[in-house]
Amino acid sequence: MYARNPVCHWCGCRVRSERKKGNRATLDHVYPVSLGGTHTADNFVLSCPGCNINKGNREPSEWLRYLESVALQLRSALMLQPDPITKAVHP
Ligand SMILES: [Zn+2]
Repeated sequence: MYARNPVCHWCGCRVRSERKKGNRATLDHVYPVSLGGTHTADNFVLSCPGCNINKGNREPSEWLRYLESVALQLRSALMLQPDPITKAVHP
């Protein structure tokens, strides 16, 4: 399960093996145990701590919808920022 350059299954950020400090990889239940998920390999994915904690007991589809809404909000916020080159040329 631990690849050479492991990434979070949910957000794609790089995670580190358990032996190293930093953004440590966690094992996340795709289907939460509280919703009937099992402790079997087919129900585990590598996850960064942030996704694991924030996903909590959400079903995968609900979590993915949440991530998509956050991504849309971030894209909108970035598009509202003035282009730094335009700003430099036309202060
Ligand atoms: Zn993540």
